[in-house]
Amino acid sequence: MNKHIAVLAGDGIGPEITASAVQVLEAVAKTYGHTFTFEPLPMGGCAIDACGEPLPAHTVERCLASDSVLLGAVGGPKWDALPGDKRPEKGLLGIRKAMGLYSNIRPAKLWPALAEASPLKKQLIEGGIEIVVVRELTGGIYFGKRGAYDDERMGRTAWDTETYSQKEIERITRIACELARKRTGRVISVDKANVLESSRLWRKTVHAYAERHYPDVTVTDMLVDNAAMQIVKDPAQFDILLTSNMFGDILSDEAAQVTGSIGMLASSSLGDTSCGLYEPIHGSAPDIAGKDIANPIATILAAAMMLRDSFGMTAECTAVERAVGDVLNEGWRTADIFSDGTRKIGCREMARRIAEHIA
Ligand code: NAD
Repeated sequence: MNKHIAVLAGDGIGPEITASAVQVLEAVAKTYGHTFTFEPLPMGGCAIDACGEPLPAHTVERCLASDSVLLGAVGGPKWDALPGDKRPEKGLLGIRKAMGLYSNIRPAKLWPALAEASPLKKQLIEGGIEIVVVRELTGGIYFGKRGAYDDERMGRTAWDTETYSQKEIERITRIACELARKRTGRVISVDKANVLESSRLWRKTVHAYAERHYPDVTVTDMLVDNAAMQIVKDPAQFDILLTSNMFGDILSDEAAQVTGSIGMLASSSLGDTSCGLYEPIHGSAPDIAGKDIANPIATILAAAMMLRDSFGMTAECTAVERAVGDVLNEGWRTADIFSDGTRKIGCREMARRIAEHIA
């Protein structure tokens, strides 16, 4: 197969980790007889520096024309003082919107070789952890109306709004239920229906839609505060967590941490077409940028998700995941997952070893 992949390396460790994923994808192409072409495009802080804006129109145009998009991460202290709509993160929200990506899937898996990296007690993780957070991505409070004003009595005051429509809730429920059918058939929907009106609509809509279209899928509800607690108390109970934009943002980082390092976890963002956006869940890690110590595995696993979910290359995806498992089982570790008795290597070396295992 021929596939054209847009690569948005971004800022901080972005260029290092996307180069690693490209190296692994090249190994896949060679081994399985595919042709992948890669088109680097600016987004985030590097785009602000080069073109004066975080998401140039040309980048959007080329991403829409590609078969899929691989993203590193954006942002960093250099651009922190810029106003909200000029910041690198604006590019990220913009590209998701432009590509119509309303679902964000974040699998948090505990790799057996990394059990020691989990901060949880051994008995809590014995049963394994594999939580898939299905997060709504283009609605809710991150996109709602907001403002700030000076109140005579209270001083400077700011507000944001959480808005959800039935349509937005239904389409993300569909994604979660489809995924549930391929897994355990269970979805836990997270909300704050005891307080928020938008959560009450969320809960009602999720159940009505799932009962009508997916009677074989079991949907239960959990309040977000309880979900945050249960993830550290009994993570094995979870399979698919269906969440709004903000709740998913927070819970997926928590789920990531209980599985070990944030440097291990990938995510995919999809809409109604097969052209998706694949990225690690972590940020641009400016504190370790350019030192060749970043963990490239999250981005490599994001590339594996791309192979399966955008290109239908299931065997190739499994080959990448297996190669990651093999390299970890051999004891190779980047600094963030290093422990006594294992062998520390850098970002480039980790990518090289994973690519080698595929070949
Ligand atoms: P971060 O995820 O970049 O870093 C948090 C911690 O995890 C840091 O100590 C970092 O060194 C470490 N870390 C992250 N990825 C790692 C990896 N692959 N290997 C080893 N260690 C890793 O979060 P932050 O420090 O809060 O944010 C830094 C910048 O990234 C900010 O500008 C923020 O806005 C941006 N950000 C971008 C995205 C994105 O592009 N999707 C997501 C989150 C944060």
